[in-house]
Amino acid sequence: MQANYHTHTPRCNHAEGKEREYVERALEAGFEALGFSDHTPYFFDVPGYYSSFRMRPEQLPDYVETLLGLREEYKDRIGLYLGLEAEYYPKLFPKLLYYLRQFPLDYLILGQHAIYNETEGVYSPRPTDDEKLLDQYRGQTLEALDTGLFTYFAHPDIFHFTGELAVYDRHVRAICRRAKELEIPLEFNLLGFSEGKHYPNPDFWRIAGEEGSTVILGSDAHAPEDTWRPDLIARAEDLLAGFGIAPIEKTALRPIR
Ligand SMILES: [Zn+2]
Ligand SMILES: [Zn+2]
Repeated sequence: MQANYHTHTPRCNHAEGKEREYVERALEAGFEALGFSDHTPYFFDVPGYYSSFRMRPEQLPDYVETLLGLREEYKDRIGLYLGLEAEYYPKLFPKLLYYLRQFPLDYLILGQHAIYNETEGVYSPRPTDDEKLLDQYRGQTLEALDTGLFTYFAHPDIFHFTGELAVYDRHVRAICRRAKELEIPLEFNLLGFSEGKHYPNPDFWRIAGEEGSTVILGSDAHAPEDTWRPDLIARAEDLLAGFGIAPIEKTALRPIR
């Protein structure tokens, strides 16, 4: 692993440590690049609703300023990139984009934590055997990929489908195929892997292997030491090798303009 583009900061209310500590850990790893991609602020249209796992819009300037300062300070030692992890909530996305484009952000990764959106939809990790919801996840994430604004698709297997494998296969294969057509890497999520969550889902990665998907490892670090966990990376690479997948080391960032 030579780069990690999936790094959080305490602004999302569930990560710890200073940005600098994440950078230091990345240096220890010998990474060429470290990308921060904290949970994006979002603008919801339900009065009084507050999304607890993301920074507030007014925190974004400080996020950007802090990272630009570190980028300058470390410029001779590592490439630091400013990103955000964002859901694609169709009716709310234009306003988000309008706001984000006012900042010098380098990239977005897609992390579809809910379908429809948080106030009217369903959280992706909630187990369900309802194909209609899986179909919605597929449709919504394909639309997201089609925007051309996402550098990669984080934990594409976060949707927790408990129904028949043949049904899962059909929808997930469509996601793998579109991502491949658009040359968008799929992220094997190391946080989920270390915590034994329902993702990474071996069924998903088997299908990704069959489809010849481009795969990248993402630390999804919520603590500085998680930026680089060599033991975990080795285990992930072993597992992926079993599906015929060799993850790429780095990826080009897609501009959000
Ligand atoms: Zn996520
Ligand atoms: Zn994340």
